[in-house]
Amino acid sequence: MSNDAVASRSTADPTSVDEPPSLSPCNGAPAPAAGQSWFPKGSALVKATDWNDWRWQMRHRIRSVDRLAEMFPELGISEGLRAAAARFPLAITPYYASLIDQCSTMDPVFSMSVPNGREIWNPPFLRDDPLEEDRDMPVPGLIHRYPDRALVIATTACAMYCRHCTRKRVTSSRESRISETRLRRSVAYLRSNPGIKDVIISGGDPLTLPTDALEEIVKAIRSVPSVEIIRIGTRTPVTLPMRITDELVAMLQKYHPLWVNTHFNHPVELTADAARACGRLVDAGIPTGNQAVLLKGVNDDIEVMERLLRGLIRIRVRPYYLFQCDLVPGVEHFRTPLSKGIEIMEALRGRMSGLGIPDFVLDVPHGGGKVPLLPQYVVSASPTHTVLRNFEGMLVSYPEPYAEDMGTSPLRPFAGPARVCDLLSGQSSVIRPHSTERHNRRRLSAPQQRTRPERGRQVGMITGDITSTRDRNA
Ligand code: SF4
Repeated sequence: MSNDAVASRSTADPTSVDEPPSLSPCNGAPAPAAGQSWFPKGSALVKATDWNDWRWQMRHRIRSVDRLAEMFPELGISEGLRAAAARFPLAITPYYASLIDQCSTMDPVFSMSVPNGREIWNPPFLRDDPLEEDRDMPVPGLIHRYPDRALVIATTACAMYCRHCTRKRVTSSRESRISETRLRRSVAYLRSNPGIKDVIISGGDPLTLPTDALEEIVKAIRSVPSVEIIRIGTRTPVTLPMRITDELVAMLQKYHPLWVNTHFNHPVELTADAARACGRLVDAGIPTGNQAVLLKGVNDDIEVMERLLRGLIRIRVRPYYLFQCDLVPGVEHFRTPLSKGIEIMEALRGRMSGLGIPDFVLDVPHGGGKVPLLPQYVVSASPTHTVLRNFEGMLVSYPEPYAEDMGTSPLRPFAGPARVCDLLSGQSSVIRPHSTERHNRRRLSAPQQRTRPERGRQVGMITGDITSTRDRNA
């Protein structure tokens, strides 16, 4: 099944789902009817109260290849798969497994959660810690890279271990949580560095901790007067949405301003349960953003990406970042060229509201931090004018603040079509592509605009629909 076909079942439906969904079996076998046993085949029916209990989901995660084979009998267990599962941890919640439509890397949920033999092939430039986080760790478990931010690793456990995870060196270790001593040392560091205003509680996934254990961490960090904002990085709204309970939200609400960043990568993850989980957070005044990762075969497609971003906005989650895959072992088959991300950003701009467009960023190797990558919009620049390109290919001259000593080029007689150098000198203010959708719409809806007296003769003046004489002659 193509990504498109998988995504077609993805629209978040905020209607209530009280019964556990049927596990979608591999290879197109009919899904068990509601009320049948689902996990694994032939076992007793799971009660809705169990299914909707995040602890039950955690206890019943698929943690071994044997269990995977039992759950997905159609899945051929290759030596490569076994090797990948031995090298990097495996865990899939029953909920997330239920989103798998077919046992194939064409299925995005399968791809992101089931070990793949290709994870074992690792070119030499891949590193366990490509962002050198461990070198920016003044105390164990606290990363201090940017002047005003720090990240605290609260646990090494996740509900589901993403095959593309960047922090595998952390999650590969035994599932454990931050010790009291470590937390004390982290808080002491925050107190002695009042420049840190924003603390990210991450992992692993902090929302896999019991609520009281998480509260101890949040409370300790909130006790530092200089910390203004607490952020929690979690994938549970995606892989374990039943974790976002009223009890959890009530606890988090006590420590505002508190933000959450989650990690949806594909529209198929935007289920009714996920929508409800995010809605609970937002209703509690917790701004929720999304940090997606660009993954080959999962979301490196403009249609899929657009559906993801529009779906996020619908469930009130702000697309924040689209990350380029980091240079960690096990992800080479997921990596796209940087140009793919730039191409997607180019297609998104103008196609959808800026509210739904994330920043495409590369966390540069050697701990250089995040670098935003954008299509090129500044075409050229002079002291008097900057020439910009819009999403349609229209070139516009933007006049810089007037300074008498800079002067401007005198108007020359027009001959031939305008060129970029004419925009740069202010001889012309715009070069429009012919026959764009918008251009045609304007022509049809307001033909009189084309005959309006020209007001754009002033050099460099941009006058909405009015272009320089030279433009119109072009
Ligand atoms: S939830 Fe985050 S930390 Fe955990 S495996 Fe996925 S990407 Fe890694």
